[in-house]
Amino acid sequence: MRVFQCAVMGSGGVGKSAITVRFINGSYLEWYDPTIEDSYRKQFSVDNQPCLLEILDTAGIDQYLTLNDMFIRESEGFVLVFSLCQRDTFEEIIRTYEAIRRIKLPEGNQIVPLVIVGNKSDLIDEREVDSTEGEKLAMDWKCTYYETSARTSTNIVPVFEDIVRQLRRSDLIRRQ
Ligand code: GDP
Ligand code: MG
Repeated sequence: MRVFQCAVMGSGGVGKSAITVRFINGSYLEWYDPTIEDSYRKQFSVDNQPCLLEILDTAGIDQYLTLNDMFIRESEGFVLVFSLCQRDTFEEIIRTYEAIRRIKLPEGNQIVPLVIVGNKSDLIDEREVDSTEGEKLAMDWKCTYYETSARTSTNIVPVFEDIVRQLRRSDLIRRQ
């Protein structure tokens, strides 16, 4: 079966590992070693068709800037995570997006499968980024936007279903 590769990227502490682990085995991690970088595989069904997704949980773009380009080269799809409670992490995904375009567009990819994720939606009182800002970014980038909570398990599955749909679509376009 075709293995789709996606990378989960974003600033340290936004919940990349919590989202990944929540999706992979349904549990919530209160604490996870920020230096651990791991890849997981999950077989699941999207639109009644089986798929196999490999998810690379990257270890924070702040600390390991040089690894960033390598992750981008190795991945076909991207889940860009920021924290709804930390505006600077929202600004950071814009820089990552620029790096993705710089690397992927010359390879002949017109559209790169991408999902923007605003995480920690359960922390209602601490919100610093408005829903409309995430939605606007998704419009500009022609991608999708979800607000998630790894803690309450809100909207986690739809994120990964969406990336699989986009990866399938990009396979079809490439074959034309
Ligand atoms: P990473 O560095 O991006 O992998 O972030 P982690 O997954 O390690 O999460 C960093 C911290 O944020 C941990 O203490 C998590 O428990 C917490 N966290 C992650 N997701 C959520 C969430 O949806 N809601 C809340 N309230 N905390 C979260
Ligand atoms: Mg992590």
